[in-house]
Amino acid sequence: NSDLQNNDLQVVVGLGQSGLSVAQYLTEQGYRVAVTDNQSAPTLADKLPTAVEIRRFGAIDGDLLQQAARIIISPGISLDTEAVAASRQANIPVVSDIQLFCEACTVPIVAITGSNAKSTVTTLVGQMAADAGVNVGVGGNIGIPALNLLKNPDMQLAVLELSSFQLETVTNLGAQVATVLNMSPDHLDRHGDMLGYHQAKHRIFQGAKSVVINREDALTHPLLADNVPRLSTGIHAPANGQYGLIIDSDGQTYLARGTERLLSADKLIIKGRHNLLNAQSALALGELAGLPLDSMLTTLQQFAGLDHRCQYVATVAGIDYFNDSKGTNIGSTMAAIEGLGAVYAPKDGKLLLILGGEGKGQQFGELTPFINQYVSQVLFIGQDSLQIEQDLRAAKLSDDVTLHQCQTLEGAFATIQQVTASSLSQVQAVLLSPACASFDQFSGYAARGEYFSQLVAELDTVIVS
Ligand code: ADP
Repeated sequence: NSDLQNNDLQVVVGLGQSGLSVAQYLTEQGYRVAVTDNQSAPTLADKLPTAVEIRRFGAIDGDLLQQAARIIISPGISLDTEAVAASRQANIPVVSDIQLFCEACTVPIVAITGSNAKSTVTTLVGQMAADAGVNVGVGGNIGIPALNLLKNPDMQLAVLELSSFQLETVTNLGAQVATVLNMSPDHLDRHGDMLGYHQAKHRIFQGAKSVVINREDALTHPLLADNVPRLSTGIHAPANGQYGLIIDSDGQTYLARGTERLLSADKLIIKGRHNLLNAQSALALGELAGLPLDSMLTTLQQFAGLDHRCQYVATVAGIDYFNDSKGTNIGSTMAAIEGLGAVYAPKDGKLLLILGGEGKGQQFGELTPFINQYVSQVLFIGQDSLQIEQDLRAAKLSDDVTLHQCQTLEGAFATIQQVTASSLSQVQAVLLSPACASFDQFSGYAARGEYFSQLVAELDTVIVS
């Protein structure tokens, strides 16, 4: 913000990786910087530059916020936090690190949000750019704070994964190409309702020079003038040079652009219909960012996917185990059930699904049709498991589906052993796709996924010995 003077106080709220990057960036720019965090001893406190003059830990300091010329809020902290809400009422600007980034960034930005598939598509576009010889920075919600990308003076392209929390305070991002990949209910506990969540995500389109749209998800369509260049993706045969799928009469599926077959789907390592959409999104984003098609198609065939996303773990006693711990909302769990269900259903097998954790106020009944079609056993873990069971039952759950309250992942594995020991068991695959956050029992989705894999490995030794 060019109106700000260096002696105007900038207050960083929340000291996680992004808060730290903001404090470093602003002190380097010569601003007066203060940092405040809820925790009394944030682990990153000793990494703060000495130039950070004020540090208030143990609670978010409302008086400090009132002295700010600008507040930079971390994605983990709600705008409704009392001290923050009071500052906004006093007309103090509240922005995220992404705002600072887009004001300073001079290279084109590929901006990616959505309820699901953000990390997969962001990684893929980043890889496509790197393979095409572009000096690319990949960051945002995906790990490296966006501001740290500015440390590379040779960067030619920035690919950003953005969460709704990062977007809710961003104005005029001005991306070269922006997309909302898909929209399903998530984080309604913080955004209030679907409208608030939708509004936050659609800020990604402000000032965009081109956009990528999901034809089958109207909630991803931006309110932008018709002359903004756009490409669309979808599971149907594409019209007019758009991306889509062509399915031949023998069932052979191709990624296509218009009538042109680009790549046979079986050439991809990542599986499932949702990943065919993700591949299209990456191609469309890459095209609008100027990447060459041939090179992008080569990258696609080498991309093995990310950990904890419908990741195959092992086969024990004839049953395949899949870790989809990153399935933290009902939309991703629907995609996982359908993606794997389509593989196992032809063999007349059924899935065993492990569900539960922090439910974030979602309506789990929306999962019932998918469960009825592909799942024979549901095992519940975590704090909201009783509510989830109630939601499923209230939404016409089939009598053929058996439910088990297991509380923990260990409990779930004890049940798995009982269930699969029965000769009546139809289970051919076990899928951890909790549709919930993990923080009630784990430090994050990765810890939950790793523990799942460890329990699978122990199962192996139990059965062998
Ligand atoms: P995000 O970064 O948005 O959380 P990820 O790429 O990490 O997205 O994937 C999160 C979850 O979403 C995974 O469980 C994955 O299996 C599922 N998923 C991947 N692609 C899609 C899609 N196109 N639609 C719905 N769910 C998807």
